[in-house]
Amino acid sequence: MKLETLCVQEGYTPKNGEPRVLPICQSTTFKYDSSDYMGKLFDLEESGFFYTRLANPTSAAVEKKIAALEGGVGAMMTSSGQAATMSAIMNIAGAGDNVVCSAAVYGGTFNLLGVTLEKYGISTTFVDPDASLEELQKAIKPNTKAVLGETISNPALVVLDIEKFAELAHSNGIPLIVDNTFATPMLCRPIEFGADIVVHSTSKYLDGHACALGGMIIDSGNFDWEASGKFPGLTTPDDSYHGIVYTKYFGKSAYISKALVQLMRDMGITPAPMNAFLLNLGMETLHLRMPQHSANAMKVAEFLEKDDRVSWINYPGLKSNKYYPLVEKYLPNGASGVVSFGVKGGREKAVKFLDSLKIAAIVTHVADARTCALHPASSTHRQLTDQQLIDCGVSPDLVRFSVGIENADDIIADIDQALNNAQ
Ligand SMILES: *Cc1c(COP(=O)(O)O)cnc(C)c1O
Repeated sequence: MKLETLCVQEGYTPKNGEPRVLPICQSTTFKYDSSDYMGKLFDLEESGFFYTRLANPTSAAVEKKIAALEGGVGAMMTSSGQAATMSAIMNIAGAGDNVVCSAAVYGGTFNLLGVTLEKYGISTTFVDPDASLEELQKAIKPNTKAVLGETISNPALVVLDIEKFAELAHSNGIPLIVDNTFATPMLCRPIEFGADIVVHSTSKYLDGHACALGGMIIDSGNFDWEASGKFPGLTTPDDSYHGIVYTKYFGKSAYISKALVQLMRDMGITPAPMNAFLLNLGMETLHLRMPQHSANAMKVAEFLEKDDRVSWINYPGLKSNKYYPLVEKYLPNGASGVVSFGVKGGREKAVKFLDSLKIAAIVTHVADARTCALHPASSTHRQLTDQQLIDCGVSPDLVRFSVGIENADDIIADIDQALNNAQ
């Protein structure tokens, strides 16, 4: 089936007389007729649900849908995007290990790797995503267990050269993890370009309505853990699970199975069934929303590029953008919905612009159906001085604008009147 059909149909197929719509299985536990059968579930000899911390039919349906969309062998839903990134790394790295990560990543990922995982003994080397393969190779150490980057980074809008990063990872016998939150599989399928693991904050475009937090890890099934020899956690017996060797027992699904039966079991980063239901509902229109987000963002970017009340504009879909060649290769169907730009006159004018918007709402969020905007210098980054802001790539005049799926003319008219008001 094509992606559009998968968005609508995959994951749940009711049998005769069953609910047409994916049911919300609001139950922590599942009933069985014999303790013998229950024992087989625990021994992984039978498949079935027993406790929602590990698996739930509503989450399982949406996991199946996204695994199909990304072209993976399996997926695991988590309570948030942060939980997905954390467990994607902890599944293959422990104390004494290292991760190489693009410096242009989401702030939450930057802190998770640079501060929190560091405290647990997993170090991170941040690299310039635009550096040459030779330069990047210098960052890889014998204890490096994964390479990480974002297809389109939040908020810097840097486009990742996925094939370059895949080559870096694979030539060192380690997997590439790609955060595909901003692109979604409708605009880019990183596994086709060599990514081994894909992660998502489903809280953004996949849900698409700012209803429910969620995360997802998708396993391509392509990485050869045994050939690599660097991942004893996957290739030697797990004493906490009947001495199972994940690669032997689960084959191509070794990585995602370990994440579930070991990390989900122990850390309990479980999504609520209700949130899985909302995610599935949102994803039924993903294929309609992503082209509209991209087309609207393109019109907004073209308007801003010509406007002399604006000092600069960053949208990877513009021909003038540094990343346009990478967009042509990796994102031929659109560069997603987030645009950033500078309001001439700096911090004060940017604040006035934001306060003058009528359709676009001021929220700490991106990537839902409604247009929204944020001025990081006066909100998420307000503790920083102007110089510190410039050092971390967020200039005082920067407005992050998440273009929704309203009519583009109305969005542009709103921007136009707000820019006038800011003068
Ligand atoms: C929002 C976001 C996250 C974190 O996701 P949450 O669902 O908020 O925990 C991770 N990566 C990217 C690219 C994001 O935009």
